[in-house]
Amino acid sequence: MRNVVIVGSGCAGNTAAIYTARAGLDPLVVKGIDAGGQLSWTTEVENFPGFPDGIMGPELVDAMKRQAERFGAYFMDGSVLEADLSQRPFKLNVEGHWLETRTLIVASGASARWIGLASEQALIGHGVSSCATCDGFFYKGKKIMVVGGGDSAMEEANFLTRFGSEVALVHRKDSFRASKIMLDRAIANPKIKFQTNTVVEEIHDVSKNSVTGVRLRNVQTGLSWDQDVDGFFVAIGHIPNTKVFRGQIETDADGYILSKGGARTSVTGVFHAGDVQDRIYRQAITASGAGCMAAMEVEKFLEAEGH
Ligand code: NAP
Repeated sequence: MRNVVIVGSGCAGNTAAIYTARAGLDPLVVKGIDAGGQLSWTTEVENFPGFPDGIMGPELVDAMKRQAERFGAYFMDGSVLEADLSQRPFKLNVEGHWLETRTLIVASGASARWIGLASEQALIGHGVSSCATCDGFFYKGKKIMVVGGGDSAMEEANFLTRFGSEVALVHRKDSFRASKIMLDRAIANPKIKFQTNTVVEEIHDVSKNSVTGVRLRNVQTGLSWDQDVDGFFVAIGHIPNTKVFRGQIETDADGYILSKGGARTSVTGVFHAGDVQDRIYRQAITASGAGCMAAMEVEKFLEAEGH
């Protein structure tokens, strides 16, 4: 029987582990498929306070893990395959082993949706990014491309015009899911060039381990061409990692956990932390803050229950 199980080992899960470990609760962290979360995919992180010279994403998240281990947190490989939250203690199936826990922190994050090209996967962190706030700064005076037709794509394209010499916005249709105000703002921005009815067929150049250009195709004419690009930003949505909890914890239509105030969820004793509930900020620092909040709520909850 555990006091607290934390699902996910990104910034949110690791920070929750530091706090619950220091509170003497012997947390167990189930690392998940993408151990270390989204930071483990990024290169340099320049906006996490406390690192004036920046820090590599994997290094930062590993430091958080070691900090939690120092206070007794235990990290377990694997993922939660099944969960029974119908009564306490909660039951979790981690890779075939059933665990029981008094409280649960869901910090399983949200995964960026990718186009699905092999070259895209190979170049993540080397010119391909899903986060303009994180990586835009690296493309000062460079050619940037953003893919997507929703609010995220418009917001990222606008933001990236602060850095890039030009921003190409590539969308597979000529109609947009983005709200009118966001779309209008992007259209009015002289640095953004729209390329509609266009899909990305290939990102160059995996052999150089950096982005040098893309192969595009117009879906109406069928014509393909190469275009020079230095930074390639994918903004086609995120998928919250809540599949195993669906139907048990209240979520919105897209699967993001609905907050019931603070870090509370619709299930008493289950708390949320990080991107699994947050579709707006999605930053390492906000996820860490949310991990801290969830840990403090767990502490308070267990104390009130007499544990
Ligand atoms: P979204 O609204 O779901 O839009 C995703 C876009 O990506 C769509 O244009 C979609 O094209 C395109 N897309 C999906 N899969 C693709 C693929 N495989 N290849 C190429 N394009 C693909 O996602 P979002 O923009 O991330 O927004 C998510 C939610 O957050 C929305 O509710 C949005 O309003 C909100 N949000 C709000 C703000 C704000 O208000 N400041 C900022 C960001 C996000 P199709 O249209 O062809 O399907």
